[in-house]
Amino acid sequence: MLPSAMRFLGNLLLGRDPDQRLHTLLTLVGWTTCVLMSVAHYAEAVLGLADEANTSWLAVFSTIGALLFYLLMRSGVAPQWVTHARLSWVQASWATVAICWAYALSGPARGAAVLLLVLLPLFGMFSLTPRQTWRMAVAAYLAVALVMAWKAQVEPERYDPRIELLHLVFAGIVLSVSSVLATLIGRLKRQSEQERSKLACALERIEALATHDELTGLTNRRAAGERLRRAAREPGASMCVAMIDLDRFKQVNDSRGHAVGDEVLRHFARVARQTVRAEDMLARWGGEEFLLLMPATTPEQALTVLARLRERLRAAPLACAGAGYTVTFSAGVAPCGGAGEADLDAAIARADDAMYRAKREGRDRTLLQPVAA
Ligand code: GH3
Ligand code: MG
Ligand code: MG
Repeated sequence: MLPSAMRFLGNLLLGRDPDQRLHTLLTLVGWTTCVLMSVAHYAEAVLGLADEANTSWLAVFSTIGALLFYLLMRSGVAPQWVTHARLSWVQASWATVAICWAYALSGPARGAAVLLLVLLPLFGMFSLTPRQTWRMAVAAYLAVALVMAWKAQVEPERYDPRIELLHLVFAGIVLSVSSVLATLIGRLKRQSEQERSKLACALERIEALATHDELTGLTNRRAAGERLRRAAREPGASMCVAMIDLDRFKQVNDSRGHAVGDEVLRHFARVARQTVRAEDMLARWGGEEFLLLMPATTPEQALTVLARLRERLRAAPLACAGAGYTVTFSAGVAPCGGAGEADLDAAIARADDAMYRAKREGRDRTLLQPVAA
């Protein structure tokens, strides 16, 4: 109960997209701290240590910043040019103004405002480069230094120049440490993102290798088996399967060599892939044997597809396999009513029988085996 309530609250506050969640969380943490500090400054005013009107305006300024940046991050509705990096810059500038303001109004309690500088590099931790982070830290440091110099000049009794100097050193330490940490964490995140994308590429490659035939790029027999089982489970699907075997392929290997034989297989796969529809599945079933699954196809349509393939192969002779050589094949086609896997297995066996019949009857032809014997 509690974990699901926390998850709901987390989703509500930060959104679901992991990248957006991270940026929104940083914004929320940063600005919540700023708003809480404004409340603390207000307490200073109540204690008579600071000007009340001034601290109220600071609280309003911080709250507007908090709401504005949180809503921008959470809703993701900002225009495209408002990148995370630009937003980090604007947030850091807004927060710098708030910190300088707090420093200028706090009087004796101004040391706490210096502490807040630790937040600035965090705003850009995941969106700014290390160079940008350092630039932002230097800009904030100069802004705070200016306020210190100004206050030491105009109110030396409240802002003792010696203490201002100490605060300036302290501000430098806080900003440096925080910038180092922010760049380190940012680098770690970038590294982990790179590793993750490398892993995703490797997984994609492994999946392609596991499901495709290396030589022809067609679906391999194992992946074809899975696709066939899925097709067989579709209720009421009427489809056709074709078993295709290249004719006298061994002769090409024997006379021209294995490499040319491989080229013939690739050539056939290329032409066949361009001939069948995207929803058909052409798989390399064995050496020079191919299985073609044609969903929602009548036997007549299947015969037309194979006739078109034959024509296209005839129109595209392969010079490397010998002058005038064209790839021919014998094929068997069998329809399948989609009554489960056994029905599909039987259709494949019938297509295989028809293919062998085509071989016996002289090759370079397609035969149909319409119904189970
Ligand atoms: P048929 O018309 O009766 O089908 O005769 P065929 O020569 O095509 O059939 P056969 O089964 O006698 O020979 C098939 C040949 O295919 C034998 C095998 O070495 C070759 N083969 C199988 N896989 C590959 C491959 O990946 N590359 C190459 N180059 N040859 C292969
Ligand atoms: Mg053959
Ligand atoms: Mg064969």
